[in-house]
Amino acid sequence: MKQKREFEVVFHNLGLRSWIECTLCWNCPREDDKGCCYYNPTFYPLDFVYLLDNNPRLIDAIFKLPRVTVLEKYVGVDRTEDKDGAMLCQLHSRQGGCQLAADLRESVCRIYICPGCGIWEEAGAEAWKGFFDRLDAVEQEINQHLSAILGEKGLNFKTDPRGFIREAAALYREKWQGAFDWCEEYPREQRYQLSREVDWGKDWKI
Ligand code: SF4
Ligand code: SF4
Repeated sequence: MKQKREFEVVFHNLGLRSWIECTLCWNCPREDDKGCCYYNPTFYPLDFVYLLDNNPRLIDAIFKLPRVTVLEKYVGVDRTEDKDGAMLCQLHSRQGGCQLAADLRESVCRIYICPGCGIWEEAGAEAWKGFFDRLDAVEQEINQHLSAILGEKGLNFKTDPRGFIREAAALYREKWQGAFDWCEEYPREQRYQLSREVDWGKDWKI
């Protein structure tokens, strides 16, 4: 049965590491302590460049996780089977949700909010849709260039992950410093109060 829920959405503008907070996630309508975290988070070069500067230990921790797919251009953290037979992200804790601080998560995990929340339908949110679409496009473009330039030297996540991340960081600083300065035209943070009809359990689409 549908029920009305009031919650808050906060757009956090941290430049490259911007993210979207949604208080409905604290008590997700899926009622399974997982929400949408059945996903395989996928880390690209710019994610590791940020981690190198802000939490280098996490890079080792990611590579040491029990199930990780390392390809030339990205590193995927494979979801694993949970006790209930459904899948669960290895970085998720049923007690506390995601174990990573928001700025340390990869792009999808920083930005994805399920369609039932209807955040982009809220008046005034279109500007933020433009912000996050642009962010995604610029980030993808830089990731592709980093992989292509370093790939020509034989460097990638498979051949030499640490060397690749180090070189990617140097190249990013050399060629793309300022690529996200346009983010400063937006507020540092903006809050919206939302009210939505919510389905429960598996009826809540993610
Ligand atoms: S399914 Fe929706 S409400 Fe639940 S955790 Fe994911 S984004 Fe939040
Ligand atoms: S990294 Fe965090 S937000 Fe992303 S799927 Fe895993 S637990 Fe969820």
